[in-house]
Order: sequence, then C-alpha cells, then structure tokens
Amino acid sequence: MENKLIINQIIPFSNVDGSGNRCAIFLQGCNISCIYCHNPETINYCNDCGNCVNACKYDAIHLVKSRIQYDKKLCTSCNACISICPYNSSPKAILYNVAELTELIKQYKPFIRGITISGGEPTLQKHLIIDLFNRIKPLGLTCTIDTNGFFDINEMEDLINITDKFLFDVKTVDDSFKLCGVANLSSLATLEYLLKKNKIEEVRTVVLNSYMDGKKTVEKVAQLLLNHLEVTYKIIKVHTLGLSKQRQNKINDFIPSDEEILELVQIAKDLGLKKVEYVL
Ligand code: SF4
Ligand code: SF4
Repeated sequence: MENKLIINQIIPFSNVDGSGNRCAIFLQGCNISCIYCHNPETINYCNDCGNCVNACKYDAIHLVKSRIQYDKKLCTSCNACISICPYNSSPKAILYNVAELTELIKQYKPFIRGITISGGEPTLQKHLIIDLFNRIKPLGLTCTIDTNGFFDINEMEDLINITDKFLFDVKTVDDSFKLCGVANLSSLATLEYLLKKNKIEEVRTVVLNSYMDGKKTVEKVAQLLLNHLEVTYKIIKVHTLGLSKQRQNKINDFIPSDEEILELVQIAKDLGLKKVEYVL
C-alpha cells in the first residue's frame, strides 16, 4: 500500500481546479477535519470495518479476507455507503501505482493543460506525488497542488520545488481548533514562503462566522498578497452541500450573508489587491 497512491476520485477534465482544463486527482486522507468539509469522505483511510457492505443495494462492496473490496462496474454512485460510514471514509478509494496513473493521464494529455492534486491533503502522500510529477512534467503538463496549507515547509522542500503552483487555503488566522478540529495550526508562514518562491496561483478563504474571523483573516492575507498582485484571492461563502445533518446544524446559524462576503471583498480591494474573486 505504501507504494500506491490512495485516490478517492479522478475527474479527467476540470476547469475549476487551477488554470485551464486539468485532470483533477483527489487523494484520500487529510490531516484536519474542517466543520464545513464538503467531501468529508476523503478525510480518513478506510479501516475495513464493513459497516457499509449491507448499505450497498447493488452488491458493489464486499469484505474479502477482512478487507473491503469495491466493484466499480456495479456501482451506481448512489453514495449510500458514504452516508453510512461512521469514519469519514469511503470504500471506493482506489490504489494506483504511479506508473499506472501516469499512463491514465497520458490518455487525457491532448485535452488538458496539466494536473491538479487535491484531496484530502496531498502533502500527506508527498513521495508518490514527487514521483508522479517527475513523470508528468516531461509530457509538457503543469503540476498543481491544492492544499489546506497545514504542512511543514522544512519537510516539503523537494515537493515545493517540483510543483508549478499551489492553490492555497488560509482557513483562519486565529486558533484552528474550533474550525479544523486540530489546535495551533497556522499556514501564514508557509504562504509567505511560497509567495516568495512564486509558487502561489490562488489563495482561498471560506468564510464562516463565529468559527473564524473573516475580516481579520482577509486583512492578514491581503497584507501578504500586496507584493504579489498577480495572485488571485478568492473569498468564498460557506455552503452546506455534502455535509451531514449534524454538521449542518452546527453551522446553519453562522453562514454569512451575501452582503458580508461582498464587504470582505471590498476590504481586500481597498487594501490594494487587484485580483479578488468571490463565491456566494
Ligand atoms: S455508491 Fe456505489 S458502492 Fe456505494 S452504496 Fe452506492 S452503489 Fe454501492
Ligand atoms: S468505508 Fe467506512 S464503513 Fe465502509 S468499511 Fe471503510 S471505514 Fe467501514
């Protein structure tokens, strides 16, 4: 298993995961658990508990020698298995070795500008991504990583060097525990470092009142981006799609209004940013 990427999903052609048409590869496994995560089934690795087997009406999941086996041909994508999983995981994750994945990407090459590794958190599978990028870049494709920003740059230097661009979340500038489930994480120093290396394409902040301070976060990010006006800052209103009822109930009262998001956009522009986008 260590020699294979654990992939939740591959979208052959995406135009929302970096510049141009891209093959987007979503890895399984994350180092945090955001209250608003819209694909929580990517957070943990499957522990083969078997709880989802009987939830599948299409006989696509089995326990074989105590390991989950998934048959893609029988799957109707009803996602009953994901809804029932108590561990924020998915029985549909697929293992790929880097050579297999490279061959698959080659089939898409005429139609894409590059690939984007998303998740989950891609940096958790760093060594295999470096191997993949070493094979993909000679094909003339660009390599992008979509990260939550919570990684140690001292351990990621080789990955940073080979990556063309990062799509980078700044989730909060206050303590991360309430929002992300893990305390004392900060991504600002990492963002500053990547900006200096010209590795940032886009910074994103999802706004959720009470769990983070939108104004303070936007002001801090804007300060860092002032010397990098080519970078897009995207300010996103939290949405509840894909969330369990339990998580929806926790955030329903704290969803910002459209006006609040537009005010944050104006704050970023007033501070001097040129490329500010928003999602309502
Ligand atoms: S998504 Fe696929 S594997 Fe999961 S329950 Fe539905 S048919 Fe079965
Ligand atoms: S996907 Fe979830 S419910 Fe199914 S076997 Fe894995 S951990 Fe258990």
